[in-house]
Amino acid sequence: MSTSYGVDGRVAVIRIDNPPVNGLSHATREGIVRDVQRALDDAEVDAVVLTGRPGFFSAGADITEFGTPKAGADPNLPTVIATIENAAKPVVAAIDGAALGGGLELALSTHYRVATAKSKIGLPEVNLGIVPGAGGTQRLPRVLGARLAAEIMTSGTPRSAGELAAVEGQRLFDRIADGDVVAAAAQFATEVAAVRPLPRVRDLTVDAEDLEPLRRQLIRRSRGFRAPLEALSLVETAVSAPIDEGLAAERATFASLVASDQSAALRHAFFAERAARKIPDVPAGTAARPVERVGVIGAGTMGGGIAMNFLNAGIPVTIVETAQDALDRGLRVVRKNYQIQVDRGKLAGSDLERRMDLLTPSLDLADLAECDLVIEAVFEDMDVKRSVFARVDGVAKAGAVLATNTSTLDVDEIAAVTKRPADVVGMHFFSPANVMKLLEVVRGAQTADDVLVTAMAVGQRVGKTCVVARVCDGFIGNRMLASYRDAAYDLLRRGATPAEIDGAVEGFGFAMGPFRMGDLAGNDIGWAIRKRRYAEDPSLPRDEIADALCEAGRFGQKTGAGWYDYEGRNAVPSPVVDDLLADYWRRHGVSRTTFDPEEIVQRLVFALTDAGARVLEEGVALRASDIDVVYLFGYGFPRHEGGPMHYANRVGLPAVVEALRRFHGDGWQPAPLLERLAREGGRFV
Ligand code: NAD
Repeated sequence: MSTSYGVDGRVAVIRIDNPPVNGLSHATREGIVRDVQRALDDAEVDAVVLTGRPGFFSAGADITEFGTPKAGADPNLPTVIATIENAAKPVVAAIDGAALGGGLELALSTHYRVATAKSKIGLPEVNLGIVPGAGGTQRLPRVLGARLAAEIMTSGTPRSAGELAAVEGQRLFDRIADGDVVAAAAQFATEVAAVRPLPRVRDLTVDAEDLEPLRRQLIRRSRGFRAPLEALSLVETAVSAPIDEGLAAERATFASLVASDQSAALRHAFFAERAARKIPDVPAGTAARPVERVGVIGAGTMGGGIAMNFLNAGIPVTIVETAQDALDRGLRVVRKNYQIQVDRGKLAGSDLERRMDLLTPSLDLADLAECDLVIEAVFEDMDVKRSVFARVDGVAKAGAVLATNTSTLDVDEIAAVTKRPADVVGMHFFSPANVMKLLEVVRGAQTADDVLVTAMAVGQRVGKTCVVARVCDGFIGNRMLASYRDAAYDLLRRGATPAEIDGAVEGFGFAMGPFRMGDLAGNDIGWAIRKRRYAEDPSLPRDEIADALCEAGRFGQKTGAGWYDYEGRNAVPSPVVDDLLADYWRRHGVSRTTFDPEEIVQRLVFALTDAGARVLEEGVALRASDIDVVYLFGYGFPRHEGGPMHYANRVGLPAVVEALRRFHGDGWQPAPLLERLAREGGRFV
């Protein structure tokens, strides 16, 4: 049964009961219509309460029905909504917890709504590249006003019922319940049982509000992503047109977006993130080791940020440095980062202190003896790492998980200095570690299954999106990034400029182009790696332009100059870089060439695809969708394009291979897996 029916006094109570999230499956929709009809037919019933389970009124469509005939089968959600809205007896929604998407649209069909203050109210459809499809775009503005409704819909971010109930003039909630929401709703239903006509959201009108600032902000942020702007247009329709016209417009937009490439990409991203949690060769039921106290070694750029993740989740952290001044500096940065959140109103001052209280500074590795998980974030130098791990091995308790945050070094070589290589794993956070969602969990040759599971579980606990990688230089993300950066440098050599390349890539939807990203991360990091490689192999071709940039001391934002000049954080094209490029082009007989933005994007994205195919074939990544997750969560790849492997699947692998050959010349060899799949009509999975 996906609904249940009962009568309490003269009030019928219909409970939606479809665990885990009360998704509106076909059986649930049938159950609601049947139960409402039963209440209407029962002369002993004066009013109806429609509720869910504690914590979930309903989180909307049932994702297990996505893409199946059941998704739209009769009764569809609009039919359920019409049944309730047109009911001759009052229906009161009793909401505790999530009322999201279709769940909120369902609640907007009832005549009254009672909710607990902490309930989460939202229309997150834009996150899947669509707009609400069962009246949400027309009804939410009618109860919350155009601007607030548009903000909720275009951001896809839920708000609390308590916050919305406090909005002046709102018609969304009739009462906020302190305790048992069903009892409160039943009481309310009794009070209003005789009131006629029944208030229907559809009969309200929406006042015009200035939506232009929101539109400008969306255009700036969404970078070609359609759904939020479409949602905004539908709110405007709610203001200007009768509801049935608005509902028709909503249906048309919904149908067009559901069938769009963007929505397919976002659905892929959603399922890819879930798939990444599964590790096929680890036995189901492998339990994570408990993690109650964490140690972090190194309080530099990464160590401080890594520590913050655990403090935010209420997990105590001991952080160890070599010298008092480095320790003090690290703690100051952590406090400053929290202070910024307090200043922005995102964190209470008392929470700042509570978090800092969970952080124990130390100059002695022996203080890590009680930690269940130790994460090393010292200098990227194998000798330093080996010495740290040898010493940690001597002090950490039995069963502790020992993790390294190395970006490029061999996790197995680090593990080998300990007497417990099975307890060693890579946990590769991204900078800034307290902000970036991605965590690459690097599985060494000897990493135990439960150690891997522990790293994944603790990562998820602190809100990271975790992807398993095998050991190789750069793991999944940075290894591929090298090819992407090479493609960008190659374009410079062919006559393009950094601004032109960044502009094209940002127009595609990347958060930042490769040159602005280089300036932010520091161009000296790549230069140090190149210099090491040139020393190892003097025949290696030089990155003349990038090397010249660094020789001129232009390391990026930290030196106030890089691929761009900087006015504050504003990047402006630099005459110095123009001269440097002009000099290179003159010496190599190249002339300044303007590239089609689409070609620029394809050169860079297909370089990622090709490198991704190699990573996949070597088993560094478990599945193509994991590679997409890495790029979506760690590198600012536009979510509505689904990631480099999904994008290539969509374009078609033969077209990708053809384009790469055109870009690089016939002698160039694509990744064997890419070539084979293209030949066989396959796709990345
Ligand atoms: P950093 O130089 O900012 O910080 C390293 C800190 O480690 C310094 O404060 C140093 O005093 C401390 N340290 C050195 N030896 C120590 C020891 N024996 N015991 C305790 N502390 C010691 O470097 P970072 O950028 O934070 O990088 C740290 C690690 O994280 C490196 O392995 C790096 O490759 C990796 N990483 C960096 C980034 C990034 O963007 N910066 C991203 C991902 C991973």
